[in-house]
Amino acid sequence: MQSVPEEWREGRDEGGGGDGKMGEMLVKRKGDSEGSEEMRKNGGEEESLMMELTRLVQKMVKESSWWERRGIDCSILAAAFLCLPPAFLLLGSSHVMWFSAGVLLMGVAHAVLTVKGTHLASHGALSESQAWAKFWAVFFIEICGSFSARAGIQGHIKMHHAHTNVIGLGDSSVWKVPFLPRTVYLFIAPLAVPIITPLVALAHLKGHSLAHIVRTIMMVTLGLYSQYWLLIHVSGFLSPLSALLCMLVCRAMFSVPYIHVNIFQHIGLHMFSPTRRPKRIYQMTHGVLNLPRNFLLDWTFGHSLINCHVEHHLFPFLSDHMCLKVKPVVSKYLTEKKLPYQQDSYLSRLNLFFHKYQELMVFAPPITELVGVQ
Ligand SMILES: [Zn+2]
Repeated sequence: MQSVPEEWREGRDEGGGGDGKMGEMLVKRKGDSEGSEEMRKNGGEEESLMMELTRLVQKMVKESSWWERRGIDCSILAAAFLCLPPAFLLLGSSHVMWFSAGVLLMGVAHAVLTVKGTHLASHGALSESQAWAKFWAVFFIEICGSFSARAGIQGHIKMHHAHTNVIGLGDSSVWKVPFLPRTVYLFIAPLAVPIITPLVALAHLKGHSLAHIVRTIMMVTLGLYSQYWLLIHVSGFLSPLSALLCMLVCRAMFSVPYIHVNIFQHIGLHMFSPTRRPKRIYQMTHGVLNLPRNFLLDWTFGHSLINCHVEHHLFPFLSDHMCLKVKPVVSKYLTEKKLPYQQDSYLSRLNLFFHKYQELMVFAPPITELVGVQ
């Protein structure tokens, strides 16, 4: 049985958010009018919506086997590792088709390990043991992902998840590069992600202990150098430049959708003031969006980042497969309670960001106040 994590308690502490009359809830932009005192009082009397939903999800988790809770996702990550030896061998082929298959296999495996793996590891979703969770975080984030585990967890868990869409805290503004033109930002700059990532990791080391700095630099170097060494000694690359170029191509293969997904699911939705933030269930249902299922991205990025992002923000400790399993219950519950369950297609979001780039990615976002439930 899965131990009860911190987040369950977080769900229980959400008291007094709703009364089942959410159809009456008014969504207003700041400055429209004051909220209803009465609704606020009613909300306090009833059991919180988050508590009720948490109980439904908790029941499903308890009834699920280890295989469902962690096994499936651990197996996908293990399969990505097992793809690496054939990928290195294929990259040694002089035949264009086999070589291309090697690049593709290496790129997909790298995306699985560095997006799905680092994300689940940062949430501690790969193991019930704290020590193993820490080990996997360092392994996936630093060795595979060339980033600092501490900075990754701080940025993703303690800021993005804790303060989703709260201005100045978890408002996804770290993804904004307003001086870049939209075409460059959306389609060209992401290709530099593999180069920028270790540099940002270095910048984050400032102010940390010497032991932590040395550990992170050693782990990041180990990840980068081992791939380089294997390309030279196993795949038989003749020049350092060609090996480095191959690394860049494989590592940047999914950079464009990676940047897209990070901005599509939060930016442009409701943003909240740090002083008047809504209860968690309103914050997550108004500030998070699901993309539809996508065969490639489901496997490489994981359900929690694609088609179950709402579920992931409500229950961030669930593995990708568990997010998928609880999705029908969560979507039905939110719909019944007349809460938003936001979904949009990848192309529709891309179209929106391309045509409203200034408004979404350059200008400061407007603040929403969920009147009556804050
Ligand atoms: Zn997350």
